[in-house]
Amino acid sequence: MASNDVETKSLSKQKRMDNLVDQIKQGKYTQIVVMVGAGISTSCGIPDFRSANTGLYSQIAIKYPELTDPTDIFSLKFFQKDPKPFFRLVKELYPEPGRFKPSKTHEFLKQLQDKNILQRVYTQNIDGLEFEAGLRDDLVIQAHGGFRTCRCIKCGATGDSDLVKKQVMDEVIPYCTNGCKKGVIKPDITFFGENLPQRFFNKYKTDLTVCDLLIVIGTSLKVYPFANMINDVGKIPRILINRDRVGARKSGAYLAELAQSGQYDPYILYSMSKQGMDFDNIDSDDFFLDGECDAVIERLSTRLGLDNNKPQKEEKDTEEEEEVSVEEISKALSLSEIK
Ligand SMILES: [Zn+2]
Repeated sequence: MASNDVETKSLSKQKRMDNLVDQIKQGKYTQIVVMVGAGISTSCGIPDFRSANTGLYSQIAIKYPELTDPTDIFSLKFFQKDPKPFFRLVKELYPEPGRFKPSKTHEFLKQLQDKNILQRVYTQNIDGLEFEAGLRDDLVIQAHGGFRTCRCIKCGATGDSDLVKKQVMDEVIPYCTNGCKKGVIKPDITFFGENLPQRFFNKYKTDLTVCDLLIVIGTSLKVYPFANMINDVGKIPRILINRDRVGARKSGAYLAELAQSGQYDPYILYSMSKQGMDFDNIDSDDFFLDGECDAVIERLSTRLGLDNNKPQKEEKDTEEEEEVSVEEISKALSLSEIK
């Protein structure tokens, strides 16, 4: 046993990841929580918000010069004054069956559901593609709201989502029909300064307590409280799949610098030292798989035997082939920025 322990200590990070993949495959993890952001939908044709000339914000800015800051579109104050730019924007984003196609990453989430190992998906996206991919309503938390419900900004009465959608498509501003009959109806998308949906708060404590594996995909982890979820799980493996390395633990040198500056309370520094994912520590179960979400997910999904498109191992030949590809995939999945 002792020698095994020593061996385990010296396992490379890659080997550790390989072990984790094997364990997922063997069914060790059954309450997986996945956090997803815009990065999982960019391959679906969802218009990007921020690109300089082609992004939705810049398009809207041309059409509505009165918007000094395009992000005002998601400000309640501006919406109350002029809801037109918001509705113009959502017309381009409305989730309609067939309009946008779920990505490989959305399909992966569905595969976890089918395997019965998905505790919950927390999404920052309002595109509803999780549902389009076939995820069950109860397994998805739209942390920043969505289009499925809507209400009057004056009296709070719920609106008819189908009617609102039709009106938005026809470029008609939807007004309250069930209450005061005066206020504008706003889809339940979380605006800046608004609270996250109650369902987020109802579920996340329990989910993060029971969660045995956390997978974070395609998010910059910059928007709180969503981003803080990574710190609220127990001592469990955490995987980040993203183009950029985000949510990483601050290095000891950086914290020492802060401590020297004398501007930080030792307690704050201590809690900072525990926050974030510890990718650099070869003994930690925090992993960064860098790359485009779909590409990384496709390899992972194949390796986990979740990929529906590939023939499932029926013949012995297939198994042999699989062994070869595991090698390849293992290389392709190699972790970056390990020091
Ligand atoms: Zn009303």
